[in-house]
Amino acid sequence: MSKPNKTNPLTMARRQFDDAAKRLGMKKGQVAYELLRLPRRILVVHFPVKLDNGKVRIFTGYRAQHLVTRGPTKGGIRYSPDVTLAEVEALSMWMTWKSSIYGLPFGGAKGGVICNPRRMSQGELERLTRRYAYEIAMLLGPGSDVPAPDVNTTPQIMAWIMDTYSQLQHEPVSGVVTGKPLALWGSEGRDISTAWGVVHIAVQAMKRRGIDPERATAAVQGFGNVGYHTARLLQEKGIKVVAVSDVSGGLYNSNGIDIIAAKKWAEEHGGLLKDYPAALYIPKEVLLELECDLLVPAAAGGVITVENASQVKAKIIVEGANGPTTPLAQAALKKDILLVPDILANGGGVVVSGKEWIQNQLWQRWPLDRVLSELEGAMQQGWERVIDRAEAENLDDLRLAAMMTAIEPLAAEVELQGVWP
Ligand code: NAD
Repeated sequence: MSKPNKTNPLTMARRQFDDAAKRLGMKKGQVAYELLRLPRRILVVHFPVKLDNGKVRIFTGYRAQHLVTRGPTKGGIRYSPDVTLAEVEALSMWMTWKSSIYGLPFGGAKGGVICNPRRMSQGELERLTRRYAYEIAMLLGPGSDVPAPDVNTTPQIMAWIMDTYSQLQHEPVSGVVTGKPLALWGSEGRDISTAWGVVHIAVQAMKRRGIDPERATAAVQGFGNVGYHTARLLQEKGIKVVAVSDVSGGLYNSNGIDIIAAKKWAEEHGGLLKDYPAALYIPKEVLLELECDLLVPAAAGGVITVENASQVKAKIIVEGANGPTTPLAQAALKKDILLVPDILANGGGVVVSGKEWIQNQLWQRWPLDRVLSELEGAMQQGWERVIDRAEAENLDDLRLAAMMTAIEPLAAEVELQGVWP
């Protein structure tokens, strides 16, 4: 069940789909309309894990596959006490749209386990991961479903999934999961790929709004894989990052925050930014309402709500996280804010996951410059596809333009496949 006062992500995803489908002239009752609105299959698993104190706890996990007919399904696995089935379903739909925008041969999937990894030892995490991988192994495989990291999951966790699956198959299967460590057939650049793409898109958005990146200011919510690398790469491009935040709170410095130093502090203080001395502490919600050119929500879903939307003062929002802006919040934002939606903005991760998957099929290792130059080309193409669609349809709403760009070719594929038997 979703929490009270929190927008149900599945309601959000369906509403976004309905808006785009309607605009594309798709009708209720049409096969493509009805199929694309639902995940094809969802696996719910309850499984035991031995804890360090000798007790056994039962955990619940999910894996949802949205569109299974255009290639393997692809999408991350998250570990969090907040994981819900509705969230996993919504995220699997968003993964399909993202893969379509970027022309990848994947349908969407997503997985999650309800747990609090911050309170678990390495041994407990490994046992939980291996057992969850075993429980969902019937869905996995390089040709059927390929997970990747998401909130609170790491290259090490991907390595355990690869190893568990390989043990079950009695052969090494590197392509069953992406976001692996480099030493275990991971790809160069995968760790920074989502952020790298977010920054590429943010710079394009600034150009479109007539903002000079060298004079721009940014606030980044979240200091994990996406948030930290985004803040760091923005700074490398000369953009002044005036605020960052994580679950423990926010930091503000009008002269810019030294992102690498803040990261070092977090690493030395239990992974959290709390009490970092070289910036002012701000409550983490305040970050979303700061005066700045660029706001990158890169932490969690549903953070820009109908309650705070009218307080957002940034000129551009680039959604690093999945589903950070609720539909009601989007409608309540000031009309001159350029909002770049998640399915366009954070596609760099799945683009490079796709490259890792290809390298794994060929047992090859590509150099970083090759991966990044292909990523740059892909991000630019995705951006242009969506902007062209927005201009052709005379749309200010880039989410609607992105959804239409994603759904139109999928609907055609589904109709061509026909209905079996
Ligand atoms: P992560 O676990 O590495 O980091 C999450 C960060 O958000 C942590 O710093 C955490 O402290 C912080 N956080 C949590 N709640 C917060 C709050 N209320 N305010 C401020 N900070 C908060 O996760 P990640 O991989 O960086 O993923 C972040 C988002 O990006 C998720 O929505 C995820 O689905 C999306 N995403 C991730 C990838 C990827 O490649 N990892 C790709 C595409 C999209």
